[in-house]
Amino acid sequence: MDAIVHFKPTDLDITVEAGLGWEALNDYLEDYRLMFPVDPGPGATVGGCVTNNSSGTNATRYGAAFANVVSLTVVLADGTVVRTKKRPRKTSAGYNLNGLFTGSEGTLGIITEVTVKLHVKPKVERVAVVPFKTIKDAANSVNEFLISGISLNAIELLDDKMMKCVNDSGETTRKWTQAPTLFLKIGGSNDEVVKSTINQTKEISAQHGSLDFQFASNEDETVELWSARKVALWSTINQGKLKNDDIQLWTTDTAVPISQLPRYLVEVKKTIDDAGLENTLVAHIGDGNAHSFILYHPEEHAKAERIVHNIVKKAIELEGTCTGEHGIGYGKIDLLEEELGLIPIDVMRKLKLALDPHRILNPDKVFRMDPNKKLE
Ligand SMILES: Cc1cc2nc3c(=O)[nH]c(=O)nc-3n(C[C@H](O)[C@H](O)[C@H](O)COP(=O)(O)OP(=O)(O)OC[C@H]3O[C@@H](n4cnc5c(N)ncnc54)[C@H](O)[C@@H]3O)c2cc1C
Repeated sequence: MDAIVHFKPTDLDITVEAGLGWEALNDYLEDYRLMFPVDPGPGATVGGCVTNNSSGTNATRYGAAFANVVSLTVVLADGTVVRTKKRPRKTSAGYNLNGLFTGSEGTLGIITEVTVKLHVKPKVERVAVVPFKTIKDAANSVNEFLISGISLNAIELLDDKMMKCVNDSGETTRKWTQAPTLFLKIGGSNDEVVKSTINQTKEISAQHGSLDFQFASNEDETVELWSARKVALWSTINQGKLKNDDIQLWTTDTAVPISQLPRYLVEVKKTIDDAGLENTLVAHIGDGNAHSFILYHPEEHAKAERIVHNIVKKAIELEGTCTGEHGIGYGKIDLLEEELGLIPIDVMRKLKLALDPHRILNPDKVFRMDPNKKLE
């Protein structure tokens, strides 16, 4: 199920079957200079993006999947086919069924068709790479970009250890400063607009102690500068495997309010370092969403689990979440309870039972159907 069902470029939306990959969709849209901005893991489907409320590097500017859904076709547990809306870009007609199915992780219905908003690709888009002395300086700088109202298309952070892994991987054509580094995408309608935004970000970065400020002056350099961000995850995995083939990788996925980020990121790194586990960090920092990649040997599983729990607890204490974009699945059921408390989860359970009384759609995913049952 990966067909394009309906496409009217002038409406800036497209209807596709849910099994179409987000990358294939963007390949198709390339000729129209349009894009579907949700960019999660390779191979993910548009339906998977919606049901997980996925996002990625573009969410700072364009929002997560939820912000980009116009309408869904969903098959319910009893076979009823629901179309949630027609095709307006905005509507206040009735309950927001898009919101109900988005992020439901396949527990409420099978999404078969998705109509999503499309965005016009910026005419000019450049990348800037900005290393800082400390992660706190980098996070403070991001906070100021955001509250200054500067419009950036992506704001990503790689920590010093991640920059070292990228260098060691040899996957990029240049070597990078091994310091906490921001990767910024700056777009606009022409070179002058982009240049002006670059100057503003450069000024703010300097006020927060940036060590350097490189930006791409053409398309090729833009691709080259972004390449370090692209290879980040794989370079951590490769680094671990070089040392020991048994090594495992745990990816965390917490998010906190943006003002809490400087403090939170410092505490996260200290928690993992103090436990003696190798780690790197990538953050969709413009959304307050951080992924620590923790390397551990199989016998250290319990230790890694304890640390991840502490990292999540800290995020929740700061009014954040146990998952910014990967979802709850089976693994974060207890953490969801810690985050929201039992009452909102009971509301979810009532909705689930109303739509799926025989519990046939991903039962015991997101929350336990029986609140008293402990999962294996
Ligand atoms: C290397 C890597 C990097 C990643 N980076 C990101 C990232 O930056 N941002 C991000 O948000 N995520 C990221 N992810 C996670 C993942 O890509 C997303 O969660 C993705 O949206 C999952 O889509 P999928 O099609 O693979 O769904 P699956 O993994 O196949 O399914 C996910 C859940 O959705 C349900 N489901 C799938 N399709 C449907 C449907 N049509 N109707 C109803 N339920 C359905 C499944 O039952 C399951 O519960 C990453 C993953 C990897 C491996």
